[in-house]
Amino acid sequence: MRAVVYRGANDLRLEEVPVPRSNANELLVKVAVCGVCPTDIKKIQYATVPPPRIFGHETAGTIVTVGAKVKKFTVGERVALHHHVPCLNCHACRHRAFAQCPQYKRTGITAGFEPAGGGYAQYVRVLPFVLPGVVRIPARNSFLEGAMLEPVNTVLKAVERLSLLRGDTVLVAGQGPIGLMFTRLLALRGMKVIATDLLRSRLELAQEFAAKWLWGPNGNQSKTHNPGVHSSRIETGSLANVVERVTRGRGLDAAIVAVPLDTVVREAQGLLRGGGQLLLFSHTRRGENTCLDLATVCVDEKDLLGSYSADFSLQNDVARLVFSRRLDVRRLITHEFPLEQTAAAVKLAAHPSQNSLKIVVSQMDENTK
Ligand SMILES: [Zn+2]
Ligand SMILES: [Zn+2]
Repeated sequence: MRAVVYRGANDLRLEEVPVPRSNANELLVKVAVCGVCPTDIKKIQYATVPPPRIFGHETAGTIVTVGAKVKKFTVGERVALHHHVPCLNCHACRHRAFAQCPQYKRTGITAGFEPAGGGYAQYVRVLPFVLPGVVRIPARNSFLEGAMLEPVNTVLKAVERLSLLRGDTVLVAGQGPIGLMFTRLLALRGMKVIATDLLRSRLELAQEFAAKWLWGPNGNQSKTHNPGVHSSRIETGSLANVVERVTRGRGLDAAIVAVPLDTVVREAQGLLRGGGQLLLFSHTRRGENTCLDLATVCVDEKDLLGSYSADFSLQNDVARLVFSRRLDVRRLITHEFPLEQTAAAVKLAAHPSQNSLKIVVSQMDENTK
């Protein structure tokens, strides 16, 4: 079969590799779609894990082989996969810190070599311990929607970490695919979202996703040539002034930082009310430090939180949100690349253009769409 093999930093090669052999406790899935995820991009760019590997973990496809001992699935079912599933028994799992569970840290989907997701290949093997993470895609939904379950789960998990009340004001800094998911999920829960981004096109979508206020650093000039956004909706002036005005001087109840920028972290932390929460979602690179007045945490009780990866127990909620299209992930997918162009897909995801959001590698032919 064809697979895109990671051979070193920024070195992805289309190669011929054996179709993985699944055993009696496993499934073999023919891949239709695999999303390009920032965590994989970092591994590829900075060679943080040794090659060779076949990446890609936001995978949806069709079951082609069901092991003799697997009871729950049948050949031909359209499914979305989760490459990490917690054991639900260990110390970390009992504390609901699923991403810290030793089993969870193992990758259970592979197309060969050290398991790394395998979605950038024609077929993947689903190991026994991630079978509970296999979700059927309803007939009316597409593989594209199925492939978004994993990233949406990571966002819902982060939202669940916040202690919010309906009507609270939340800043979502960065309206890339992840930031837009935050905007939508928070709006669905009745939060008033201030969405910020450098790009107007992203603010437009944040508006569609029910952000209450939009802010860009040059909001005022950009609105003149901006037919898509109702000009009244782009806030002018500094972000601090906007927060001051819309919260009547109280400050933000929470801020989500979905861009890996230190300046944004410190600005957002400064805009929180006492007792507010700052959640980091994009700081996945080790070694980044910041300077923080610790009395803002101790005396002002501003919580500093992080969230990483998915929460297995939210799987059904996520499937409902995506498949009902209350969170319409189709709006987020702007580019589909064929398997041979996976390297180009990763490159565009790493360096987004004005109109690029979620990028996927698609092996759907006309019949499977
Ligand atoms: Zn991912
Ligand atoms: Zn565990």
